Amino acid sequence: MTLRTPLIAAASLGTLLLAGCSGAEADGEASPESDASLTVAAAFYPLQYVAEHVGGELVAVEALMPPGVEPHDAELSPAVVRSLQTMDTVLYLSEFQPAVDDAIATTDARALDAHHIVDEHAAAHEDEGHEDEVHEDEADHADEDGHDHGSSDPHFWTDPTLLAAYAEDVAAEFAELDPAGADTYAANAEALVAELTALDEDFQAGLASCERDDIFVSHEAFGYLAERYDLHQEGVAGLDPEAEPSPARIREIRELVAETGATTVYSESLVDASAIEALAADAGVQTAVLDPVEGVTGDDDYIAVMTRNLDALKDGLGCS
Ligand SMILES: [Zn+2]
Repeated sequence: MTLRTPLIAAASLGTLLLAGCSGAEADGEASPESDASLTVAAAFYPLQYVAEHVGGELVAVEALMPPGVEPHDAELSPAVVRSLQTMDTVLYLSEFQPAVDDAIATTDARALDAHHIVDEHAAAHEDEGHEDEVHEDEADHADEDGHDHGSSDPHFWTDPTLLAAYAEDVAAEFAELDPAGADTYAANAEALVAELTALDEDFQAGLASCERDDIFVSHEAFGYLAERYDLHQEGVAGLDPEAEPSPARIREIRELVAETGATTVYSESLVDASAIEALAADAGVQTAVLDPVEGVTGDDDYIAVMTRNLDALKDGLGCS
């Protein structure tokens, strides 16, 4: 993974420099290869997905993470960092990718931070008195692991309704930068919200009646999804996939798999699956992919990956 970083940074540099030369520096003319009114950078995939859908033809979206790259600890080359200054805005999530936080701070680029969605969710969570509603066994898990899905969990996009909230944000940012396109951005956002709402309804219906509600995952990217659909996640690694799981944690998960009668443990596509595969072999259960949608490849998109996730959950949890 670490060895690939310089190549990746160089690859995105090419497209970013192209955008920089043709856009901001050519006396306000639209770049020859597009009629876009705005050029924006998206720090990782779900933000890019929203930017592309809300922006439509009017916005050229530059991905800071090339396809299939795990974004948590990704680095940016100095040239990519400098290129942020040519963007109309940078869509990012603070406290998720330290390299992006630093790049925005050093370039003083205009940026839209999605972190308020995480904060508002955490605040709403407290107002609802959710702690009191947690089942006895879930409370025990939370206590012994110290995982409370609090404000430190960045993965808001695993709840489609929170990604829908983000779409409204992005539409407002684009409208402020390009008032002539405001109606288009609002209509595009509305269409995206409708798609995400339909996805949420599929999850509600698909997970309404299941034999089990514990999901065993590679890194704890599914806290918001679990909360939305009344599941409980246990991660071999914590919130950051690069954290090495301890042998004690792996033993603990192994015991929980046996206790809960789980038939499946979930790996993910962008993180080494060997710890999960060894755990599954040891426990005599199968593995399946539950993708945190932190990066996608090929023709995949958010809806496609999340739909596969729903199928994988229905299979693994014995949903009827
Ligand atoms: Zn993650």
